Amino acid sequence: MHPLLEKLAPQLLWKHFDEIRKIPHGSKNETAIAQYVISVAKRNNANYSQDAVGNIVIRKSATPGHEKAPMMILQSHLDMVCEKNSDVEFDFTKDAIQLAVKDGWLTAVGTTLGADNGIGVAASLAVLEDKTLVHGPLELLFTIDEETGLTGAGFIKPDFLKGRKYLNLDSEEEGVFTIGCSGGADTTITLPISREKAPAGTRLQIKIAGLKGGHSGIDINAGRGNAIKLLNRVLWDLDMEIPIAIASLQGGNKRNAIPREAVAEIIVPSAKVEAARLVLDKAMEELKFEFRTIEKDLRLEVKTIEAAKGATLTNSSKKQILNLLYALPHGVLHLSQEIPGLVETSTNLAILDTKEKEITIGQSSRSSVGSALAATRKKIKATAELANATVNQPDGYPGWTPNIDSEILKISKEAYQACFNKEAQVAAIHAGLECGIIGEKFPGMDMVSFGPDLKNPHSPDEKVNIASVERFWKHIVKILEMTA
Ligand SMILES: [Zn+2]
Repeated sequence: MHPLLEKLAPQLLWKHFDEIRKIPHGSKNETAIAQYVISVAKRNNANYSQDAVGNIVIRKSATPGHEKAPMMILQSHLDMVCEKNSDVEFDFTKDAIQLAVKDGWLTAVGTTLGADNGIGVAASLAVLEDKTLVHGPLELLFTIDEETGLTGAGFIKPDFLKGRKYLNLDSEEEGVFTIGCSGGADTTITLPISREKAPAGTRLQIKIAGLKGGHSGIDINAGRGNAIKLLNRVLWDLDMEIPIAIASLQGGNKRNAIPREAVAEIIVPSAKVEAARLVLDKAMEELKFEFRTIEKDLRLEVKTIEAAKGATLTNSSKKQILNLLYALPHGVLHLSQEIPGLVETSTNLAILDTKEKEITIGQSSRSSVGSALAATRKKIKATAELANATVNQPDGYPGWTPNIDSEILKISKEAYQACFNKEAQVAAIHAGLECGIIGEKFPGMDMVSFGPDLKNPHSPDEKVNIASVERFWKHIVKILEMTA
């Protein structure tokens, strides 16, 4: 065992974590770690099954006398995110994660640690091996490929699990129980455009920059500026005053990020360049005031560029795109009625791209309520169709609506109180979790998610608080005992 882990409690959990860190297990490379999990099942004479994609369920019989207790599911995901600092030599398909400890936190050396979700996997295996625990019948579920689209959970068949009480071990703040997440779905809008010979005039590049951006779910309630929306606003105002021609509009690059930059190439009559700058300055003054505390670095860059190639949009195509971008929704649409401050429904106008014959717009929407997500997508479709644009809306993934009356939540809270003599908090997140998918497949599944203190997951700064892992373990043990 690694010397840094030798003295940590609980030993059984850390022993498994030590094995897991030696087995490469990035997303979509879970075969070896799955073999390890199965080897532990075999060693303990436990029944197990593995489905076609690689998800595993191990069944542990109840402690004698507790066979009638409800079946509990403990779930973790097998894969980890592989990120390293550029100056570190490391092969995620071969090398063991190197460990370091600082101020009570376990980290890796220049790479992700895989505590997300290796600690959850190790805890489940420790539950399997520990003969001293008191519990009802258990299903230990290990999913594959959580990190690149929740696909393992997506493949689980209805007969794979018998239990209806579900502990997800993949949360990141000890003492906080997650009881909800959002579902999500994308829309791609395609607006056909016509072009004509570019008018004479001065060609300007207009760029919105300096915005904070951020995660399209977690950060959507921060009130940050959307570069595409802001660019469109200044162009709209400009077009009201001075007849402009648009050559192209670009902005954003990731569906799950709020766009930080957007840029337009336009032509204004040369005699009107100064007047155009005044209109833009006024529009920017308004925006800067609206975002005065949130987006202090917001700026508009205007520069004259070479009178280059290419035709510009016809007047009617120009009006269509400017109006469409103005009308499309972006931001928080609805707040949770159960959890103060939690966003229930939102949408992110994420990507704008101009090609020769069409302009495409990518939008990602989220909600913890399925019908509200569907309604948001219909609103986007309706708006797009008013501009004679078409939409493509592939299936999304489902959310998990918070149930504050959940029985497993009540037991988890009582167990936490019993262990630590303090109250746990309850939260939900505006992003996707495996519980959303599981909840949709298994109606009536009663779920809660928790975990140890974990900071900076998915980055080489990932670290897990050692003392919180021991509390996490005690809490699991108590929940099992209370439901037995
Ligand atoms: Zn995770």
